[in-house]
Amino acid sequence: MSRPVLATLDLTALSNNLQVVRRAAPAAKVWSVVKANAYGHGLDRIWRALNSTDGFAMLNLEEAILLRERGWKGPILMLEGFFHADELPLFDKYRLTTSLHSNWQIKALQDARLQAPLDVYLKINSGMNRLGFMPERVHTVYQQLNALTNVATVTLMSHFAEAERADGIVAPLARVEQAAEGIDAPRSLANSAATLWHPETHYDWVRPGVVLYGASPSGAWQDVANSGIRPVMTLSSEIIAVQTLKAGESVGYGCRYRAQAEQRIGVVACGYADGYPRIAPSGTPVLVDGIRTGIVGAISMDMLTVDLTPCPQAGIGTPVELWGNEIKIDEVAAAAGTVGYELMCALAPRVPVVTV
Ligand code: PLP
Repeated sequence: MSRPVLATLDLTALSNNLQVVRRAAPAAKVWSVVKANAYGHGLDRIWRALNSTDGFAMLNLEEAILLRERGWKGPILMLEGFFHADELPLFDKYRLTTSLHSNWQIKALQDARLQAPLDVYLKINSGMNRLGFMPERVHTVYQQLNALTNVATVTLMSHFAEAERADGIVAPLARVEQAAEGIDAPRSLANSAATLWHPETHYDWVRPGVVLYGASPSGAWQDVANSGIRPVMTLSSEIIAVQTLKAGESVGYGCRYRAQAEQRIGVVACGYADGYPRIAPSGTPVLVDGIRTGIVGAISMDMLTVDLTPCPQAGIGTPVELWGNEIKIDEVAAAAGTVGYELMCALAPRVPVVTV
């Protein structure tokens, strides 16, 4: 028997979430975003559950090569393109669509000796101010790209800074539309939030990420629950010890929690070295034996402690859900002052993972 901590990935939820996306954007093709090792889920474990997608979008060459080696023949979009010119022979070999956000990349592409031209995505800076060409340069860059023998097709893309807000896409969308006026090229703008909530951004290809994995881009689960999105990852453990604190006694590092009265505490085999956020405060929700209760005290490297008052029957071996179907990852993230994205990506390699 091994240490009782486990991540269970529900692949049917993943496929379901792709269908939810398709219903939300019926006229668009879908880039399933699987960067960061499929948002921490493990690309190799999950990609087949998404293989009805139109394409996969990611960042790392290693991940793109893995998908090709596993037999994925469809489109692959490299969201930030190549980081150095010497990667271009691999883009050529593995037929990767590259995004282009800087002049040096265009020059490198122009100078490269490719066996066949590449599809490219021209990235427009619509106000995020990280990557992309300023709107006023888009016509010039588009013409420049069309003239390159190493370019097969050009698609216009942009990424929104706050599509989860009701009016968060108005200004950036206007910028893109103005920049793209008169350019007859496909467009790809929408992340998860824009895919679900801003149909006017859908155009030709949507690029959902977090919603495929069953978390909300707004951080509020109820925002996606009604669309039929289901959580993919369950992080579970067990109670490995029980303590009864007397009034005034504390538990854990820093004595951050003190019992007001006699209180049963369960010690759970999951800590920050498993990816549970150390910053999660007392009261962060947790499910013990199917009953909602809360974290008490500091999260340790290998353990955390929970209040057993609402579940007097709980004892050693009682199952605990840290997040999953009942305790949404968005709830834990909100309590810890972060986003579901970060918790997924932080799942530690030492946690065993099973798929169902
Ligand atoms: N497109 C680009 C360029 C991205 O960087 C990301 C992720 O940050 C996405 C799409 C997917 O975003 P989300 O996970 O919010 O759907």
